[in-house]
Amino acid sequence: MTSILQNLSCADNYDPNSLHVERARELIIDLLSPVVGHERVFVRQALDRVLAEDVISPIDVPTHDNSAMDGWAVRFRDLATSGETRLKNIGTAFAGRAFDGRVGAGETVRIMTGAVLPQDVDCVVIQEVARVEGDSVIIPAGQRRDQNTRCAGEDLQAGRPAIAAGKKLRPAEIGIIASLGIGEVSVRRRVRVALFSTGDELCSIGTPLAPGAVYDSNRYTLWGMLTRLGCDVIDMGVVSDDRAALEAAFREAAGCADAIITSGGVSVGEADFIKQLMAQLGEVAFWKIAMKPGRPMAFGRIEPDGADRPGAWLFGLPGNPVAVMVTFYQFVRPAILKLAGVDPVPPFPAFPARCVEAMKKGRGRTEFQRGILFQEDGEWCVRPTGAQGSGVLRSMSEADCFIVLEHERERVGAGDTVNVQLMNGLV
Ligand code: AMP
Ligand code: MG
Repeated sequence: MTSILQNLSCADNYDPNSLHVERARELIIDLLSPVVGHERVFVRQALDRVLAEDVISPIDVPTHDNSAMDGWAVRFRDLATSGETRLKNIGTAFAGRAFDGRVGAGETVRIMTGAVLPQDVDCVVIQEVARVEGDSVIIPAGQRRDQNTRCAGEDLQAGRPAIAAGKKLRPAEIGIIASLGIGEVSVRRRVRVALFSTGDELCSIGTPLAPGAVYDSNRYTLWGMLTRLGCDVIDMGVVSDDRAALEAAFREAAGCADAIITSGGVSVGEADFIKQLMAQLGEVAFWKIAMKPGRPMAFGRIEPDGADRPGAWLFGLPGNPVAVMVTFYQFVRPAILKLAGVDPVPPFPAFPARCVEAMKKGRGRTEFQRGILFQEDGEWCVRPTGAQGSGVLRSMSEADCFIVLEHERERVGAGDTVNVQLMNGLV
């Protein structure tokens, strides 16, 4: 493997002491490549999985020219250019039961949505505008050729890709696969992620809280976010701030996972100790990302014990619960999507909104405040959730978006426009 650190230090704008958020994200995405390994699954099991090979359509969809509406099937050339036309009703075409005759001059058949268009028919007149008098049908003026008809192959063509590899399959794609009569597809294997929390103060659920201790919440938020992203999560529990224990945990994780996520132990006071250890076990870049929350973060690779495994990418996230979630959204989520084979990795959806409260902003960094969106007079507005400390996990629970205060931005006045990133549905 080429040296990550070499790659990074050659990159433009690489300042390990103050890396811009966008640059850090780009560097990570560029370094990673999708996991290798496919499996074939039934169509329903493919939901939320990443397609490994193009789905080639074996048929035209629709397979035949058909009606888009309930109405009357007519030959456009039979219609008078002005005024009404009287046609003779000679039968009915149902969906799945075609009219087995020919529509001749001056004739029409009743036709249902989805029914095959009889030969020579090139126009469907909706039933609401036609008038039936005995076995005659009166068609008003103003019809157009091809109206209310659907052509064979207008949706998908036989032999052409219907869905491209790299697509994360949503209900729409599941429906398309079914519409082609395909029962199984090839998807990439799930990304395996090992995670553990570090910190002697951490206490697990079921144990009484000792003085000065906190319950480990990061493993649970991380488990939730990774599960939502479709990863196989290997939860390795809490590892104490002890060199031997941490080394064993890193080695075990690198032997079984594509990525390792840790929380805690990368802040200034602790960094040296873990930094040394990570550097010894692999290649790790320590980043001071110019952001709040989430400034310290480690990114790199941990090599496995034996040479038969490729090792794992490492994301050493900060310990503060909000910083964990913010760095996950900003860096780990796109990284997981890249590893999972999603192509292209989508940008974080963002749009402008009016901020109804003034906010302070530090210089020279990007800030991610937690916000709540609402509508006022048809306009999207946002207000911060209140206390924005990086330990206040409640702010993440109340929020539905990040208010992004960009690197160059100074303070925000009440009523100013800000960019918000929508969290809903992302993890
Ligand atoms: P650290 O980055 O290890 O210095 O931790 C920063 C802060 O986050 C400290 O207040 C820790 O107690 C807290 N913290 C670290 N890990 C966790 C965790 N897994 N769950 C909840 N809080 C944590
Ligand atoms: Mg710690």
